[in-house]
Amino acid sequence: MKLYSRVYETVDLDAVRHNMEAMKANLAEGTKMIGVVKCDGYGHGAVPVAIAIDPYVWGYAVATVEEAVILRKHGIKKPILVLGVVPYDGYDLLVEYEIASAVFQYKRACRLSETALKHGTKAVIHLVADTGMSRIGLGITEEAADEAVKIKSLPGIEVEGLFTHFAKADETDKAATNRQMEHYRKFVDMLMERGLEIPILHCSNSAGILDLPAANFHAVRAGISIYGIYPSDQVDKNTVKLIPVMGLKSVVTYIKTITSGTAVSYGGTFVADREMVVATIPVGYGDGYPRNLSGKGEVLIRGQRAKILGRVCMDQFMVDVTDIEGVEEDDEAVLIGKQAEHEITVDDLANTSGGFHYEILCDIGKRVPRVYY
Ligand code: PLP
Repeated sequence: MKLYSRVYETVDLDAVRHNMEAMKANLAEGTKMIGVVKCDGYGHGAVPVAIAIDPYVWGYAVATVEEAVILRKHGIKKPILVLGVVPYDGYDLLVEYEIASAVFQYKRACRLSETALKHGTKAVIHLVADTGMSRIGLGITEEAADEAVKIKSLPGIEVEGLFTHFAKADETDKAATNRQMEHYRKFVDMLMERGLEIPILHCSNSAGILDLPAANFHAVRAGISIYGIYPSDQVDKNTVKLIPVMGLKSVVTYIKTITSGTAVSYGGTFVADREMVVATIPVGYGDGYPRNLSGKGEVLIRGQRAKILGRVCMDQFMVDVTDIEGVEEDDEAVLIGKQAEHEITVDDLANTSGGFHYEILCDIGKRVPRVYY
């Protein structure tokens, strides 16, 4: 399928559904799935992904109130939780669009309670326990448990959940994660002692889903695994077989022969030491293609690997096609995905560029059209 010639991202929604089925099969019966579609669905498009995973999820998680409103405006009816702290000026939207949010400070809960009462309704919140990320949340202390009870007692506030986030669940050594779980359980007990029973307890991210069945509690938050990427090389990749969702395709726009001694791209960091055939690819860091692939990355053309020569520019880069027989302008260039026998994965891009696989996904730019199939 080649709909947009310059560059397009392919999003395989069958792979999304496969990944959801595969994860679900690994969860205890009745465990709720929360589909994490923040950052525009990790760069895949939050709305199409949300629609595709709707039959599998109890609800969704996003990072901002704006992301949540976009889902609502596109007809997503199930619960949506904003995982981060929403600034005060987002409270009206939370209440109007029936969006749950992470709240763990009494002062913010008071303001949210006022907003809910003003609208004649309630605001749903999930409390957050800080068990080891030191990012957001209540500490595991008696005072924090008292604060949770005060929050719960506010009019117009419904405490639906309590979550924490793992800092190291994607590492082989689960000692730190087990400690986080102990802290979490302790906090749940402290709340129970105060008569505060929380309907939905949730801790696990993708790494937890893959490696830590004991961390499932009532719900799990699947992020990167929806998109077919393992959170790290240290998780068990055998229990749940994920299929990558994203592809990135472009086209050769120009082919030329350069003589020995010719410099290629900004800074002339590559100089040909022989006659070479060079192809230009009309993609660059302006599309989210990492500049750190300069001189190191590869693309697939005519089923073969073509190495990047010199620096990746904002909108173009050059590759060596000297040894690729029959290469022509308008040939397909695969930047992420399969072509014939070869494959370039998101992990390959991250490893070669020294980058982070999550970031590669999220960084694919707005000017790159998404094609869903
Ligand atoms: N839960 C929270 C609070 C998160 O911040 C994230 C991602 O950053 C996730 C769940 C999903 O994590 P992952 O993509 O590793 O599954």
